[in-house]
Amino acid sequence: MLRIFKFDLTDPDHFVVTLELVPGREASGRAVDTVLGIARDTFSDGRVTAVSITDNPGGNPSLSPDVLGHEIFEIGMDVIVHFTCRDMNRVGMESRALQLAMMGMKNILALNGDYSGKGFGGQGAPVFDIDSVQLQIMLGMLSERINASGDPDGFFTGCAVSPFKRTEGECFAQYAKLCRKAAAGAQFIITQLGYDARKFKELLQIQKYMGIALPSLGSVYVLTPKTAEIINAGKVPGAVVTDALLRCVQTEWRDSASGRQATIERAARLAAVLKGLGYAGIHIGGIHRNFDMVGRILDRLSMIQDQWKEFLSDFDFPQPVGFYAFPSQSEEEPDAPVFGCDPPQPGRVERLRYALLRRVHDTFFDPRHPFGHISRRLCQRIDGKPASRLLMDLIEDIPKRLALDCQKCGDCGIQHVGFLCPESQCPKHIRNGACGGSSNGRCEVFPERPCVWVRAYGRLVNAGQTQQIIDGCIPPRLWELNKTSAWLNFHLRRDHQEASNEISRRCNITSCRFNQLAGCPSKSNGSREEF
Ligand code: SF4
Repeated sequence: MLRIFKFDLTDPDHFVVTLELVPGREASGRAVDTVLGIARDTFSDGRVTAVSITDNPGGNPSLSPDVLGHEIFEIGMDVIVHFTCRDMNRVGMESRALQLAMMGMKNILALNGDYSGKGFGGQGAPVFDIDSVQLQIMLGMLSERINASGDPDGFFTGCAVSPFKRTEGECFAQYAKLCRKAAAGAQFIITQLGYDARKFKELLQIQKYMGIALPSLGSVYVLTPKTAEIINAGKVPGAVVTDALLRCVQTEWRDSASGRQATIERAARLAAVLKGLGYAGIHIGGIHRNFDMVGRILDRLSMIQDQWKEFLSDFDFPQPVGFYAFPSQSEEEPDAPVFGCDPPQPGRVERLRYALLRRVHDTFFDPRHPFGHISRRLCQRIDGKPASRLLMDLIEDIPKRLALDCQKCGDCGIQHVGFLCPESQCPKHIRNGACGGSSNGRCEVFPERPCVWVRAYGRLVNAGQTQQIIDGCIPPRLWELNKTSAWLNFHLRRDHQEASNEISRRCNITSCRFNQLAGCPSKSNGSREEF
């Protein structure tokens, strides 16, 4: 049955169902036939609005979602293409987007993507030239060009968010970036995978509190003991299966018939809870063999959906000492979130570094400050002179290398990340906020380090400056400035802040706001990070 994702999702009376399919590492044969078979049966059934196709999941090579999606699109099934920032630079990404538009596939889930996995001959180079917020803006600008050329349909773009983070800093970073994604033009939201109804509710409360009126689809994953174990071991970035849930699943699967039944029941009950909470739909994942399981989940959902409140306790799998943004679970207006009530406490060195860098920035890089003005005049005088390179090597490179592990990108972004370097400290070089891959406050790629956005939050919350990582959107780094002086580029208005006005203008205004320290409960309700 022909359904249009955009129409179904914007119809408030329609509870949308989407189905995630994962292409294999083959161009033909059983893996492709299986995915196409599921898509055909999905189309015949008619209850699923669109299938979404993953983009090199886990960072490992697989059949392109564009080509597989097109085959499915030809069947008549609407398709959402996952579009990550990992494997191509901005030139390749724009070209890919144009290709998708020409093929008529304009539903895009814009993602940073998992870190690079292994392909031909070893691990692939992680590109991450732009991030998912910048990708939203790029697709929005392309949509305008598509419209200008006579096609009224631009891209229909969505974003991902994880409410299932354990620590305050990670939760704040997720919601702050969600604000930027919405401001950058995202039109729908799909959640990461988790089994905590209170966290699912938290996302809707945050959306309401922050005025993010986008339809959200909650992830419903068909858990088997094997997938539960993999997720529990932290091998699927951002997804959460707690130890308690893993034990439940293992107990249920003592024999496969009852295991299957329990899995269907859990998925149907979670779908009912999501519908009851007010989600616009569900995004079903974990289907690899046939459509049968999806049909049975949807049959069961239609039977039990009105009893959703009875199932809330089935999804009570909190993470140990996990942070919740709302102290009460009232069904009325949400209280203020409790961010900043019991903030993470950076160590002394961390605090001193932040204070020093901030002072230097405010003194020498704010043109309203007399020294900022003098610095600008000085830069104008030395720019292009042979001695300037030597001077900059001495007074810029050495201190920045020592204080920030500066990579000399020439287009400094530390002021957007709590005075931490997004090039050396974030393996995905993100300038607009955290990716979804952190776990327990740690980086997805280097778990021995705290996520740079958790550190940034720790620095900013204690200085009362968290709004900085919510407002506006940060334009992409200008690669043409690589290995040049970032100080000269800043003062001579050559860097991203001046050169990309068209980009930054698109998301300068956002109504998102966390009223820090409002409504703090008397006791901490969550974890406290230290770094
Ligand atoms: S100039 Fe670039 S590499 Fe150096 S600290 Fe700034 S953001 Fe990092």
